[in-house]
Order: sequence, then C-alpha cells, then structure tokens
Amino acid sequence: MTGAALTPTLEGWSHVSSGKVRDVYESPVDDRVLLVVASDRVSAFDHILSPGIPGKGARLTALSRWWFDRIAVPNHLREPSGWDARLPADVAARSMRVVRLEMFPVECVVRGYLTGSGLIEYREHGTVCGIALPTGLEDGDRLPAPIFTPAYKAPQGEHDENISFEKMIELVGLDDAVALRDRSLRVFREASAIAEQRGVILADTKFEFGRNPANGEITLGDEVLTSDSSRYWDAKLYADTALPLKQRLSSFDKQIVRDWLSSNWDKQGEPPALPSGIIERTQARYAELFDRLGVGA
Ligand code: ATP
Ligand code: MG
Repeated sequence: MTGAALTPTLEGWSHVSSGKVRDVYESPVDDRVLLVVASDRVSAFDHILSPGIPGKGARLTALSRWWFDRIAVPNHLREPSGWDARLPADVAARSMRVVRLEMFPVECVVRGYLTGSGLIEYREHGTVCGIALPTGLEDGDRLPAPIFTPAYKAPQGEHDENISFEKMIELVGLDDAVALRDRSLRVFREASAIAEQRGVILADTKFEFGRNPANGEITLGDEVLTSDSSRYWDAKLYADTALPLKQRLSSFDKQIVRDWLSSNWDKQGEPPALPSGIIERTQARYAELFDRLGVGA
C-alpha cells in the first residue's frame, strides 16, 4: 500500500478508527466534529486489496458531497470556509468534516430492483428481509415499489446481517425505526429520479443515519449514494433485453475487481495483488459514473 491507500497522520486531528476503506479522526479541541477521510483502498469479499485504486477516495468524496447538496434531509456535513487550511490538498479532496452523530446500529438499505443478496433470499423464501414480493421475479427486475430492507451493523470484522423491520424496531424502537424507514425511502426516490434523468438507474443503496446530539435530529451520516454504498446501472444497457443479463446489470463499481478475484483466487488466505489492467478498468468505471451524473461539471 502506498500514498492515498494509507492512513495519514494529520496536523490538528487525532486518528480514532479505520474501516476497510475510510479513516476517522477527531478534533482534540472540539469533540463535536469528526474528519472522515476516504482512502484509495478497495475491498472485496471482506478483504482489503492491494494496491488501491488511484483517485477513488477523491471521487467517492466528491460524489457524496454532490448528493448531500441535492437531497432534502439534514446531513452531517459541516465545512465552514477555510476548514481544511492545515490539510494537504490531496487529503482535503477526500475528506469530509462532519458533526459527530450517535449512529444507529442499522444500515438503512433500500432496493428498487431485485438482485444480489435480496435475490438469494427471494429465491429461497419469496421474501426480502421478510417482505413478501410477487412471485415470478427474476434477477434485475424492477420491484413494484422500492422496499426498505435494513441490516444490523455488525461490530468491526463481522458480517452485517439482513434483518426484518420487526427486529429493527427491537433495536432502535418503533418511532425511530419508522422515521428511518420513511426518510430512507424518500431519499431513495429523490435520488433515483435525479439519476434517471441522467440515464442511470439506482438499483439499491445503503444509508447510515445518526442522531445529532446538539438538536436531537435524525441526520444522514456516512458516505451517501457512492459507488461503494450503491448499485448503479446504465439505463440504456438495462433496457436492451437482447443483451446478456450480466451486461445489462453491469454496475458502476468494483464489479471488475470482484469478477477478477472470483476467477483468480480460491478465497483462502490473502488475495493476490490486482494487475494494473484491472486497476485501470476499475478507475475508468468510477470515472464514468462521475461523468454520467455530471459530478465534476
Ligand atoms: P467497514 O466499512 O470496514 O465494514 P466501517 O463501516 O466501520 O467498517 P468505514 O465505513 O470505513 O468503516 O468508516 C466510517 C465509520 O464512521 C462508520 O462506522 C460510520 O458508521 C461512522 N460514521 C460516519 N459518519 C459519522 C458521523 N457523522 N458521526 C459518527 N460516526 C460516523
Ligand atoms: Mg462502512
């Protein structure tokens, strides 16, 4: 690992924790704020791969900011002008200064289409997170309406687990569970409409919310609608039913990395280093979503 794939030491910030992809810092003088720094690390099958994808951290951060600007719910971003004066420019480009929230232990997943882990449960039980769906649905089918399918946010190193809405009520209480579900569905619909205007389908995504201790408000946190937290498809390819399903549903994310690993690694021990061609193609895929949505424009 080199450069933007590593956890930097930052003047004015103390490192608190590192996930597979992001590093979190706190301010020694103001415990209400955090700095979330997206690295260029890429993970698949619960492993951090080597090397990273150059530019990924900056792109995903720009994508989050772009969406935070466009969706109408309170969010955690707090960046007064000049906030990043001490951060090196390359780190600032992949950092967000945020209000420290009391995070709910639930990932708020919304699906507009049936695929991935939802499809697996549907094939076995006809449901997704306990929600009964019409019979006869196939991989990639649009659902009659978007569904809220929460997951329990497991402690670090453990797998997140899909849960029913009843289980979510046990975890966070009825009022918050309903509020989180309604907010997630609303933001999903809003974002889907924006993406659709740009020829991109938002198939599913994951939000993380927390409570802002300053005002008690349920606030959207974490990264939002990035290609790490969401599955995006090209609407034109999706509509072309003459194409193979794999092509119609090729997502704007690290699918290239997953596919390469699946045929070059037996999932035992450490994964092999990614070849440069795979890194370049993945980079281009992230860039394409950026351009399609018009993030840099
Ligand atoms: P991994 O992604 O490796 O499974 P992770 O989700 O814990 O682990 P990251 O996503 O890299 O790690 O790190 C971001 C962490 O910061 C998450 O735990 C997320 O819930 C938390 N977080 C995001 N925004 C806020 C916020 N405003 N206040 C407090 N915590 C936050
Ligand atoms: Mg995370």
